[in-house]
Formats: sequence, structure tokens, C-alpha cells
Amino acid sequence: MEIAETSQSTMQAAPSLETKPVNENNFDHVRKLPGNLEKLNEISANFYWCWRPEGIALFRDLDPDLWDRCEQNPRVMLKTISGLRLWQRSADNRYVARVDGFYDEFCRYMAESSERATPPAIAYFCAEYGVHNSLPNYSGGLGILAGDHLKSASDLNVPLMAIGLLYRFGYFRQQISHEGWQKESYNDIFESELALTPVVDDAGERVIVSVKIRGRAVFAQAWLARVGRISLYLLDTNLGRNSEVDRLITGHLYGGDTETRIVQEKVLGMGGVRLLRKLGIDPAVYHLNEGHAAFSTLELSKEFLEAHPDSTFADAVEAVREKCVFTTHTPVAAGNDVFPTTTLSECFSSEFIGSLKLTQNEFLALGRADLSDNTEGFGMSPLAIRMCRSANGVSEKHGEVSRQLWLKMFPDLSDSGAVPITSVTNGVHAPTWIAPIFQDLYAGHIGIDWSSLVRDPAAWAAAVEGLSDGDIWNAHRSLKSLLIAFIRERTKTKDTGSKDTINEHEDTRQLFSPDVLTIGFARRVAAYKRWDLLFTDIERLLKMVDDAERPVQFVFAGKAHPQDNTAKTILQKLMSINHDSNWQRRAVFIEDYDQEIARYLVQGVDVWMNVPRRPMEASGTSGMKAAMNGVLNFSVLDGWWIEGYNEVNGFAIGGLDADDDDAIMDAADAEALYQTLEKEIIPTYYDIGDNGVPTEWIARMRDSLATLTPQFSSDRMVADYLSNIYNMT
Ligand SMILES: *Cc1c(COP(=O)(O)O)cnc(C)c1O
Repeated sequence: MEIAETSQSTMQAAPSLETKPVNENNFDHVRKLPGNLEKLNEISANFYWCWRPEGIALFRDLDPDLWDRCEQNPRVMLKTISGLRLWQRSADNRYVARVDGFYDEFCRYMAESSERATPPAIAYFCAEYGVHNSLPNYSGGLGILAGDHLKSASDLNVPLMAIGLLYRFGYFRQQISHEGWQKESYNDIFESELALTPVVDDAGERVIVSVKIRGRAVFAQAWLARVGRISLYLLDTNLGRNSEVDRLITGHLYGGDTETRIVQEKVLGMGGVRLLRKLGIDPAVYHLNEGHAAFSTLELSKEFLEAHPDSTFADAVEAVREKCVFTTHTPVAAGNDVFPTTTLSECFSSEFIGSLKLTQNEFLALGRADLSDNTEGFGMSPLAIRMCRSANGVSEKHGEVSRQLWLKMFPDLSDSGAVPITSVTNGVHAPTWIAPIFQDLYAGHIGIDWSSLVRDPAAWAAAVEGLSDGDIWNAHRSLKSLLIAFIRERTKTKDTGSKDTINEHEDTRQLFSPDVLTIGFARRVAAYKRWDLLFTDIERLLKMVDDAERPVQFVFAGKAHPQDNTAKTILQKLMSINHDSNWQRRAVFIEDYDQEIARYLVQGVDVWMNVPRRPMEASGTSGMKAAMNGVLNFSVLDGWWIEGYNEVNGFAIGGLDADDDDAIMDAADAEALYQTLEKEIIPTYYDIGDNGVPTEWIARMRDSLATLTPQFSSDRMVADYLSNIYNMT
């Protein structure tokens, strides 16, 4: 059934600013708690709790229903919980002892902080941070990666601090209409309680920075989020002294028009450097995570020329390059920010360009990949590559693809192999992504400090060998039950209408079975991710889903970019698959993909599927999260999986060679996908031995836990950045 794109007009606009006055007090509202629970306020003020299962459990156990209703936000929880409930908990000695115990652990952790002792040597810049759902400041992979980078930097005691923007409306929340069309809405974060504190100077005044735009000053205040030992500063233009338009500069993550994007990036890059100065911080390394923050290099150049009036811009570049490093995150030219030169020129005054001792043309050339092409727009990646001493991709393959992509910036080089772009493969934060039940297993087998062992691949592998089949399988079965309960709950609350789409059910109590092979697929909806590959041959797919002895069930989640109608149509097609088979009972789409949903999925499915068109997946990180929970990856050989796959710890779709013709490649990959499912995955999963468990499957799970956990941990990633990129070890 094809459905027209009728509901497009229902796309919701962001609420107007006028109806919502700025209420800064919202942020520092603290409720008076019973004396013996007061430490909960302090615990909630640092995101450390969110990567300790006991930290999460402390808040959840206050009132489990409320915890979900307030979307795992401890500050909202502490504000709204009933007095009776608080009183009950404060009279519960065991609960109070747990609060004291966790608080002591937190204090011990913080006491080792090197950042406090010495000024941070590394300033990390990123446009989004996915630390936890209760700080809605991310859209997807890039943000989660940045959040994991900070958490590992904290655990490893790296002297790093971070700078970003505080988006008042965050990223959009997703709903699917009865017609299967994605609808967006935005929540005003000022209505909730965020774990942020205002940044003030010694006199107690708000620290304010400003950048110029079209001749006027735009002001931004700073907020501090504490991520363990790491300070994350977020700039926010929502100030009464700014005009209405300027207050919205930090309104929406990846929303707004071109000029808004440029000004956002000026606030991040240039405002970020100015904030560092106001804080008295002079880092040795500026890490530009993606091109969004590349304007910081212009601010640093301006600073240099002010301090060295006799120097040239070339001298400034030399000095700035010494301090700046750049990480690129996308292998496609279109994925990089490129601004029309006219708009860009309007956003930089001739005074500023003059202070760099550049002409207008020389200035615009900084953002060009090919200097001989005067028609090229202003690219943030060329600017960053030019102005940084180091540039890297996020997997070995992505490094190679980036060297080819940017070869044109180096006319003296004939071969992309010599292009100075290296790679550091991404990783994910083990304590954040490994399920509590596996963490308990590790704590039992390895000891309470199990997460340090992740940094030693051989010792880790030996420790995982010590887990029994029963340990692994039972842990996995528990997580799968949790996932199924979550799916039933999430799909139940959806009001039913025509029941045309796969996520609308009258009665969800029978939905999904714990005994059925469950495949997860959750990622941004974009053409290159090939959401539709699975549906190449619907009959063949439904035959697997409907198989009486060995059926398969699927769970999907993901958002399409609000302006990407092609992607929304892909999503709508998925929703409309509604055959007279078991499809409705065995496939669900969970709306509004976020960190919490990701956690349930990567911990609870049996197989994690990924089918991007090669070589478009720079790295991918959700598969790493799955792997660390014994969920077997089933993926095209692209990004991280080329490095991770060893023929035992998961499954490959197709080989390493790619065909230039998309149609040929898609057909071949679809065939490989079906064959691997039919011949390998389904038979292995359902091959239950006399002991009642699938022995070969569990052996593969163990191999995934043993090999992939250390290799793709963000501790390994941050250690690589320290030694290979920051040059600090
Ligand atoms: C991990 C994660 C991502 C990134 O996953 P990819 O595999 O890189 O697509 C995106 N969104 C959320 C919520 C995540 O947790």
C-alpha cells in the first residue's frame, strides 16, 4: 500500500519565544530533601551517576514509574516526587545506606581529578554531546561519540575540557502519524530541570562572550555540565539583551537556515575560544571534533596577530596549526558543511578579515578544497585541514576514503596515500553501554574494577573465557525479556487508529516472543543506510518471518532529518508493509530513537544488522555497543566492522570489494543478506543442544565479548588520541 505524503503540512514549528520568558531560576531550583537523602542533589549534579548502574538504580528505585515518566531525569524526579515517597525512602535504612555508599564512591572518584590540579591541556570542541538523555543536546552518532569521549577522558583522568552549545529546543522528538509520515516536535528545555550550573566570574557575574554578526554583537552565556572529572561548557544565546532572532541562534540543533548555521558555528568556534580566555585557560591542544568548530582557528589566528603585530597571516597559521587537531566524521563530500561564499562574507566583517591581514578573496580561499576553483563554496573541512597540524578519520577505511576525498587539497601530491590524514577508530564507553547484568557478571569474575581490564585485550579475553555458557545465555535471556517488555510498553501507549502501520497494535501483550530470533536495526534514516535493502524480496523475507519452526522478528528505530523528504518516504514505506502474514506481530518500529531506546535494543536483541552502502559508513558505533553485550553483528564490511570481524564474532554481508554501480551492489548485498540469514544465522541460532542452549551461538557471543570489547572501547580510542593525535604520552 502506497500512502501519499499528505501529512507533511502537519510538521510542527517550534513554539514562539514570546510565550516563554527566560527563567534562569529553573536551572538552580533545588528541592529541600530529607536530611539523610540530601546527597542525592549533589549526586544528580554530576553525570557520573549515569555510567554507574548503582547510580541509575538509586534514582529509579525512588519511584520506578515516575523515573520513566520523567524520562530518566534525576533533577525532574527530585523536583516532582511525592513527599510521601521521599519520606518512605528516607525511613528505609537500606536505601539510605546505598545513597551514602554511592556518594562515597563518587567522592573518591572525584578526588583523583587531575583536571583540578592542573589547567586542562586539551580543549575538545563539538556541536553536540550525548552524555545522557536528561541533557537533550545530541542528534545521533556524533554526539554520543563526543559524550563517550568525555566519559573515557574522565575515567582515564585525561586533562581535557569540552565546549559546545546549549540548544534550547534540542533535537526534534519523533512521532509517526497514522499515514506513516514522520512528525517533528520540539520541547523547551527551560521547562525541565537540567544538571547545569551557570558559569560566573570571581565577582559572581555571569560569564558572557560575544561574536559579531552583520555589525551587531550577539551575546552568549555559559553553562557548566559536569561529566565526572570533565567540565563541559555550553554556550547559549538565549539572553534578554539579544534580539529575538539572535536568542534563537542556539535554538535548534541542526535546524535553521544557512546563516543561522554559520552564526551557530561562530558562537561555538570563536565564542568558544573567547570563553577559554575568560576562564583563564590556554590549552596546548584544540581538538575540533568535526568541522563545525573550525572557525576557532580564525579566532586563534586573530589572537596571534594581535600579540605579534609584525607577523603575517602565514606566521599565524604556523602557530595555530601547532595547537589544533581535526577529526572528520563523514566520507561523503555532501556531508561536510559548505557555505555559499556570499552568505559567509555577510557573516564576517571586513574589519575581522582585515585583522587577519587577508583580502576578501584570500579569506574565502581558506575554505576551498581546490584553490583554482573560484566557484567553490566555503567548506569547514578544508578550513580545518588547512589550519590543523593533524587530521584524522574515524576508522582505517574512513582514513583511506578521506585521503582520496581531500587529495585535491594537495596539488603537489600525485597519490592519495601521501595525503596527511590518519585515522583513529571510534569506540564506545563500556560502563555506559554494557548492561548491568553483564557488569555484575564481570564484577563477580574479575572484580569491582572490571572496567580497567578492558584496557588490556589479552587479560580481558582470558577473563571472558572464564564465563560459562549458562552465565552468558542467562544474562542474554534476561536482557531479551527486558527488551520485549519495553517493546510491549512502548507500542501499547500508541493510540490506535486505522492500524495501518506496523507500530499500531490493539493488544501488545502477545507481541514478540522471547524464543524467536530477534534482529535489531536502528540508525538514522538516510538513503545510504539502505533501510529498504531488507525488503528487496518481500516474499523471501516473509517466508523467514512466518516459518513455523524457526521464525524471525525485527525491531526498528530511527529518525529522518526534518528536511529530508526522501528519508521520510523511506520510513513511510517501511510503515506500510502490512501483509497478511505474521509481519505485524513480528516487526515493530519504536518511535523517537534515543539513548535509552538504543540501550534496550543493543542489549536485548540477538543480532544487530547494518547494511550501509560502502564505503559511506565512516565508522558506526551502535554495532560496538551490541558487540559488548554479546549481540552478534550482521553487517556489511564497512567502517569499524572491517577491523572487528574475525569470522566468529559475528557475520559479514558480502565481501570487501564494492561496485561503482549502486543497483548492482544493492542486488548483490541483498542476496548475501538473505543467504547468510537462511544458511548461517537462523540454523545456528536454532541449533539447540541436549543441554537446552545453542552452543555454537554462545561460542560466537563469547568471542564477540572477548575480542570486540577492548578493541572498540572508548578508553582505547582516547588512549590512541593521547598518543597519536594529542602527542601527550
Ligand atoms: C550509538 C547511537 C547512534 C550511532 O549509531 P550508528 O551505528 O553510528 O548509526 C545514534 N543514535 C543513538 C541514540 C545511539 O545510541
